[in-house]
Amino acid sequence: MRRNDFLKCTAVTVAGGIILPLASCSTRPPSALVESPGVRQNWAGNYTYRADNLYEPTTVEEVQDLVHRLDRQKALGSRHCFNSIADSPENQISTQKLNNMLGLDEARQTVDVQAGARYGDFAEELHARGYALHNLASLPHITVAGACATGTHGSGVTNGNLATSVVSLNLVKADGELVTIDRKHPDFPAVVVGLGAFGVVTRLTLAVQPAFEVRQDVFTDLPLAAVTDHFQAIMSAGYSVSLFTDWMDGKVSEVWIKRRMDAAPDDLGDDFYGARAATENLHPIAGLSNEAVSDQLGRPGPWYDRLPHFRMGFTPSAGKELQSEYFVPRDRAVEALLAIEALRDQIHPHLMISEIRTIAADEFWASPCYQQDSVAIHFTWKPDGPEVMALLPRIEATLEPFGVRPHWGKLFTLEAATLRQRYPRLADFAALADRYDPAGKFRNDFLKQRVFG
Ligand SMILES: Cc1cc2nc3c(=O)[nH]c(=O)nc-3n(C[C@H](O)[C@H](O)[C@H](O)COP(=O)(O)OP(=O)(O)OC[C@H]3O[C@@H](n4cnc5c(N)ncnc54)[C@H](O)[C@@H]3O)c2cc1C
Repeated sequence: MRRNDFLKCTAVTVAGGIILPLASCSTRPPSALVESPGVRQNWAGNYTYRADNLYEPTTVEEVQDLVHRLDRQKALGSRHCFNSIADSPENQISTQKLNNMLGLDEARQTVDVQAGARYGDFAEELHARGYALHNLASLPHITVAGACATGTHGSGVTNGNLATSVVSLNLVKADGELVTIDRKHPDFPAVVVGLGAFGVVTRLTLAVQPAFEVRQDVFTDLPLAAVTDHFQAIMSAGYSVSLFTDWMDGKVSEVWIKRRMDAAPDDLGDDFYGARAATENLHPIAGLSNEAVSDQLGRPGPWYDRLPHFRMGFTPSAGKELQSEYFVPRDRAVEALLAIEALRDQIHPHLMISEIRTIAADEFWASPCYQQDSVAIHFTWKPDGPEVMALLPRIEATLEPFGVRPHWGKLFTLEAATLRQRYPRLADFAALADRYDPAGKFRNDFLKQRVFG
């Protein structure tokens, strides 16, 4: 329901002189409605949300009421996506005020969090209580529900994306009903990486493990030839490994190797396949201050302060930027990297940095790593919108022979017809989303174009 419709309802009731309880039209806006939300943009500022109304419910009951009564709507997390995936033509339901860690179940080895909790909101407390998540993305600033909904990932040949830690979730369906979907539920593989298409998630139960410490070692100027000759060994050199490159000069500018202290890691020395050990903390983007990055130089620290590249309380990455990321099968990584390197003269003018990571296969229908051990080739772009959007089809065509799948939360141009070939269960995903949401309440332009077709 639009802000104007609330006013219309009020006017009709007052003019009639009778106060009628209307089934789907209250006489006043819900208290969760944010007055004068103003112009609202995503984190990067490259997308302005079209939704007229923003709601910030504080209880699950409020979420249920809103979902039930609003026609067109979409859940909104911490706004870190670079495209319109979190937008709606009418209403956005923000989880900003549903941000608590709810409880730790030591017997089941799980933690319950509200959907709008950002990883950085509860990770320190979880660690203090002796537990850890298996992995984190490059930044702790994103909500758990938003990250899982888009298949957000960190790195590591044996690490699945962040959604793989979900044990169950509570979902408010289009009719306002609250349901729990756990790993035994047949819809679980569709709903977890759900793109916001099934309803509003209010709570997630995540698998935890005993807390661990991590050391982070960074090496500079790794020859590209070493990457092509030893890709599997290099990416397996730590629990989580990232390669940063601008594709120029035949080298990877930085290698970030995160190793668990409980695996008793050896000293890697000063020479890593021809790369030199860094002598100070480094930002992945040359010239940017290192104050925002997690500590390096092999100094052990808690998992939540080493697995992300960037620290809570600081701007992650560059801030004024765009991002794209493409997934290809890990066993074709070297071919794919060389194909991208051949585009370096077109890419470089608009690029801040690329990052190469690995992610283990999972079973989520809309996950870019669905049944496929993957390598992710990421691009942090300068904010050159038109030039970047013109370049993406060339990158997508170059990676087409590898069956490329895009990151749902970043910029890409592939549409539903192609994506349904790349994501073998995407048609099933759309059919199930249709059953959960027959009136298409959650179906925004992004979903129509990229998923439903
Ligand atoms: C600086 C930066 C670094 C990044 N690093 C990484 C990285 O390392 N790895 C990676 O994979 N990605 C990365 N990303 C991308 C980012 O993590 C994802 O796009 C993620 O989805 C953002 O979460 P969010 O809470 O901001 O979600 P939003 O952008 O707010 O929403 C994303 C989607 O989730 C849905 N959603 C949100 N909350 C709910 C809910 N409660 N119920 C149902 N659906 C919901 C929305 O409807 C929307 O479809 C990065 C982004 C930035 C800006």
